[in-house]
Amino acid sequence: MKFPKEIRRNCPWCKHHTIHSVALYKRGKERAGSWGARRQAGRKRGYGGQKFPELIRTAKTTKKATLRLKCKECNREMMTYGIRLRKAEIAA
Ligand SMILES: [Zn+2]
Repeated sequence: MKFPKEIRRNCPWCKHHTIHSVALYKRGKERAGSWGARRQAGRKRGYGGQKFPELIRTAKTTKKATLRLKCKECNREMMTYGIRLRKAEIAA
């Protein structure tokens, strides 16, 4: 699905409809020193290896696309609820 570059919608900070620029949300890089990563490293250390089955085939065939909307008046950003799509792109 193609999304327009700009959307007019309500801004909760300006409290009226304003023009928002649209961008696709991308997940950030995971920290190597986070508690989950350290716990998993501890589990995998020594003999024994992986402690729970690795996900090989996922049930879902699509990924959720989340939009980042930036208000052009107050420059605040908000995100929309993720919708399932095969392909999401911003119209050029
Ligand atoms: Zn605003």
